[in-house]
Amino acid sequence: MDVKKFIAEIKESKPLSSQESNLIEQAYEFAKSAHSGQKRKSGEPYFNHCTSAALKIAQWQLDSQTIAAALLHDVAEDTEFKLENIKKIFGEEIAFLVDGVTKISRIKYREEKEKSSKTTEENQAENVRKMILALSHDLRVILIKLADRLHNMKTLSAIPYQKQKRIALETSEIYAPLAYRLGMQNLSGELEDLAFPYLYPKEYKWLIDNVKERYEEREKYLEKVKTIIEKNFKENNIKPIKIDFRAKRYSSLYKKLFRYDMNLEHVYDLVALRIIVQTIEECYAALGMIHQLWPPLPGRIKDYISMPKPNGYRSLHTTVFCLNNRPTEFQIRTLEMHDESENGIAAHWLYEQRKGKKDYLERKSSSAGKKELTWVNQLRTWQKEFSDPEEFLQSLKIDFLKDRIFAITPKGEAIDLPSGATPVDFAYSIHTDIGDQCIGAKINNRIVPLDCQLQSGDMVEILIQKSKKPSESWLEFVKTSIAKKKIKSALRNNFARPKKSSRAEFKITASDRIGLVKDISSIISKNHINIETMNVFPNSNHPIIKIRCNADKEKAEKMIFKLKKIKEVKEISYKLI
Ligand code: MN
Repeated sequence: MDVKKFIAEIKESKPLSSQESNLIEQAYEFAKSAHSGQKRKSGEPYFNHCTSAALKIAQWQLDSQTIAAALLHDVAEDTEFKLENIKKIFGEEIAFLVDGVTKISRIKYREEKEKSSKTTEENQAENVRKMILALSHDLRVILIKLADRLHNMKTLSAIPYQKQKRIALETSEIYAPLAYRLGMQNLSGELEDLAFPYLYPKEYKWLIDNVKERYEEREKYLEKVKTIIEKNFKENNIKPIKIDFRAKRYSSLYKKLFRYDMNLEHVYDLVALRIIVQTIEECYAALGMIHQLWPPLPGRIKDYISMPKPNGYRSLHTTVFCLNNRPTEFQIRTLEMHDESENGIAAHWLYEQRKGKKDYLERKSSSAGKKELTWVNQLRTWQKEFSDPEEFLQSLKIDFLKDRIFAITPKGEAIDLPSGATPVDFAYSIHTDIGDQCIGAKINNRIVPLDCQLQSGDMVEILIQKSKKPSESWLEFVKTSIAKKKIKSALRNNFARPKKSSRAEFKITASDRIGLVKDISSIISKNHINIETMNVFPNSNHPIIKIRCNADKEKAEKMIFKLKKIKEVKEISYKLI
């Protein structure tokens, strides 16, 4: 594709000013020559990957900077040019976007098979997703990464088998859910569907063999239903924008079939009829009209308009006993809701811009899952504050995660920590023993002091020494309560479990006075010595006090010195026991 044709294709999705198309042309030429001679595994020119990603970005209605950055996204990583070159030619903003994509690409998600608990794996995936968000600082970085991943998935068949599996898994566990959380349902489903044959080849084959015919037969049937619907819409003065079919995605069909003993008869939304109308009122009118034509199945009417899904999805769903009494699903929504489910975040911005109003976002954020204050909800709340597209782009910077950082273990596991956390916090988040035995740390392969503050994306390696005990001074700089708790408990245990010959018995003779015993015991415990037993033997006016405690020779000597200073203490001695 030459540059003229490329710009023309971009313009099909998005109008460009001449300044904008100049920028994109420049990025196109630069990336093309930087990647010249490079080939994808499939044998096609590497640059095709860059233009595909950029076209997707344009379809999502992002700005020309992001389109340019998508063209350049692999330049810093895979060509002789460095980020500095991009900065010089294209400026800070585009360089920043490219840098973000490069950083995300370095995060490798590994499935940790040795871990038995499922929750840990889920947390791990969630942590990687959060880390990607935190590392990006700007949502546009993630959108480029998603466009990049989409094209990689479409060309996955060309790469070696082992790598296919890893990339498909990463897509299904990290990127598809990330897209879903950002409200990009369509992209999320597409990524799932692309990963599915690689993750479940047998199941995929079974579906193809068993479903394909049904899909075709189903579409013929729905063609008849569509004709009836159109006629009734006309009579009721409802003007639909579009009526089409939506075949259920293989990946989600498989999940559903699994719940229904693989019985296809029980899946009513194998192919659903999708109706797009002008207004919300028409959505409900259309629903009413369909229910007048055919009786609904109980429990299958879903009003995601008044109760959107947590990711913002809005639509009316119903299943009715349709022609020949066949259960058939309908989905009804406005064009705005439709675009939103296709384009997510980008569509929010687009609609605010067009309509100059933001009430629907407010309504949505108030009804969409108050109970679930996830990071996406934070994002949505924060997002509705902007009506100006410029301001919105500015605000795409992700600062709602600013009080968390994500550091990585040498194995690539992401650890979620509060900002200001230190290597000691990191060590305790991995394992108590790692924390207790920590003697040093490396960040990105360089030795650092234990109290230094970690940054998002840091690779942290903890150096340990067996039988080392935590130091009390750590309490002054650790940030997590888990580390504090573990350090304190280790310090306590250290004294409670004395080693051999580290116990002593003191024998103190003193003139009796009020508070004597209290003074003695408080001095001993102030020196972090645990008193095991304390016996007072009355001996006229000079009682003898015997104290057994966990002091070794050195500590005992020190204690003698201190105890002697107590008023009325006459004589003091000790023996190790
Ligand atoms: Mn790429």
